Amino acid sequence: VVTSAPLLGEPLPVELMNTIWMDRRRLRDASTEPGGLVDWLPALGPRVAGLDLLAATEVADLARRLLPLRGALRALAAEATADTRWPRPDAAELDRAVAGLNAAAAPRSPQLTWVAGGSPARRTRVRAQGAAAVLSTFAEEAIELFGADGPTKLRACYAPNCVLYFVKDHARREWCTPLCGNRVRAARHYRRHRDTVRDPAPADVPVHDGTPAPAGAKT
Ligand SMILES: [Zn+2]
Repeated sequence: VVTSAPLLGEPLPVELMNTIWMDRRRLRDASTEPGGLVDWLPALGPRVAGLDLLAATEVADLARRLLPLRGALRALAAEATADTRWPRPDAAELDRAVAGLNAAAAPRSPQLTWVAGGSPARRTRVRAQGAAAVLSTFAEEAIELFGADGPTKLRACYAPNCVLYFVKDHARREWCTPLCGNRVRAARHYRRHRDTVRDPAPADVPVHDGTPAPAGAKT
């Protein structure tokens, strides 16, 4: 089974946040779909190191542990992006989110390896196996995302009826997908047309308040 949640090619923590999305003006949540996050995980494929080594019970365990992490990440994202689409977390919620993220990342620690005659290298030691080890990779990427120096590149998409997050990876990017950009332009065009012509809206005007991005839309 393939998930219907959108995958935008964003960093793993952002993909996890985006398992809550808007579909035909209805808020959907991959964790409450029939296969839950168990069906979402394989869609990430080789992007999640160690996922293919997990037994079915461990994947179910991972899906269960990803839920509170997703809640924490969405709280952090709402705060980091000053998101106006949702209530912002209060101080206590923020504390809980940070603690939850750090707990998920705890099995990982940086190590220096240096064999005589060779070059020093950084590697990450993971003191966990199975679901906890894979969970910690999501958490480590999230710490890189939120803990990066300088202003965050994480953005909320403010296209009509879009609830997704994305990383602004180039200066002109404003929307999660080109599809959202097109919807915004269509809405502006429609408003201009409506305001200047003052005709009753024809039945086939461009959708001005929300057509969802198709599952798996690429940027
Ligand atoms: Zn969007």
